[in-house]
Amino acid sequence: MLHNSARAIDMSLHLHSQTDPRRHEQEGPFVISSGDGVHVHDDTGKRYIEGMAGLWTASLGFNDARLAAAAGAQFARLANYHTFNHRSNEACIDLMEQIAAISPLAPCKIFFANSGSEANDSMIRLAWYYQAARGMPHKRRIISRQGAFHGSTVMGALLSGLPHMHRSFGTNSDDILYATKPHLYREGHEGESEDDFADRLIHELEAMILKAGPDTIAAMIAEPVMAAGGVIVPPRDYFARLRQLLDRHDILLLADEVVCGFGRTGNWFGSQTFDFVPDMFSVAKGLSSGYLPIAAVVVSDRLYQAIADEGHRNGGFGHGFTYSGHPVTSAVAAEALRIYHEIDVVGRARALGSHMHAALHEALADHPMVGEIRGVGLIAGVELVADRRTRQSFPAEAKVGAQVERACRARGIILRNMGDVLALCPPYIVEPEQLDELVHALALAIEDTR
Ligand code: PLP
Repeated sequence: MLHNSARAIDMSLHLHSQTDPRRHEQEGPFVISSGDGVHVHDDTGKRYIEGMAGLWTASLGFNDARLAAAAGAQFARLANYHTFNHRSNEACIDLMEQIAAISPLAPCKIFFANSGSEANDSMIRLAWYYQAARGMPHKRRIISRQGAFHGSTVMGALLSGLPHMHRSFGTNSDDILYATKPHLYREGHEGESEDDFADRLIHELEAMILKAGPDTIAAMIAEPVMAAGGVIVPPRDYFARLRQLLDRHDILLLADEVVCGFGRTGNWFGSQTFDFVPDMFSVAKGLSSGYLPIAAVVVSDRLYQAIADEGHRNGGFGHGFTYSGHPVTSAVAAEALRIYHEIDVVGRARALGSHMHAALHEALADHPMVGEIRGVGLIAGVELVADRRTRQSFPAEAKVGAQVERACRARGIILRNMGDVLALCPPYIVEPEQLDELVHALALAIEDTR
């Protein structure tokens, strides 16, 4: 266990991400000291199965030796260089070749950033640049969705449709429109079928577009599966119909693949699982298995050509980060992609995902506190309710999801609660027996809080 004074330092100095500061001052940190495959150990030595791959990140677990070696080798060879003014490096070139080989956009161009938020910000700047390049600078507004999470930079937070991301920040903007979350269980009308629900969402969105004026809208951004919004799997055909609608109104479709990318939904990218082709997509997290901060935007050739002409006219494309295409983060990501192919992450996400969903349904489908079990590939959400028949939620102040999360920890597993939804997003190296253990512990943890 960390020396008490070290815990006290965290309590007194650390303004934690996405944490209640006053509770932290009282409860202190949950300190993770080491990792071992799908397990992590806290500072008391207690071992947990990490059922969330950290923050939807550690696809290869927590101490992959090859990723460490790739970082070490690149540190020794070239530890830093930038990609401004035509500069590049071999690690970044290697990585781009690998991303392009699996990209649903071909040909494509790749822009590098350091986080999912920066990648999404970059997509918006690129969308604006593209619209200006085609003589439509008035196309500025962006459509997002209620419940979306796109990051914590100013634009990432603006795009996010989660109330706590806006409360007291004063970041509401008339330039962002929030469409309804495509969640039949919560947003569907009584007796509405999945197809009717999708139909209604598309019509509502069209009404929103017409009201705002299609000439004022640059793009719509969407996660194929909304992760932090509660693991929301959209109705079938939703994205295909969205794509048609946006095309009709000359609006770009930007996919946020920060969580879904690199196998999570049972295909390399979520857009493939839901059968649509975006104009651009962002990736981060799984790109390096979360080992180093790296993100990218993959841009279609159609957009690139206009952007390149505009950048040429402007005497340079005015966007980019000091660490875009950093050699060490690139080398680690390139190695992660090689491993993904070798272990067949797509096949594993499908097979392990089926196993996980079957286990969840067997253990929890009839549980009186479980309203919905959802997911696709190796990602799932379990929504807890006070009343299954009426779908009545627990009062927010009861913090039932947080209680279950704590009970999970006591039972040796780490999951994450988003309100009363427990999310599961294990590393691809998880074994079926470990998934059984995870689901069993979750079921017991729910019982613990009854
Ligand atoms: N987009 C999605 C879908 C995310 O889940 C996240 C983070 O959880 C982000 C963007 C932001 O990524 P980052 O925290 O790396 O900026």
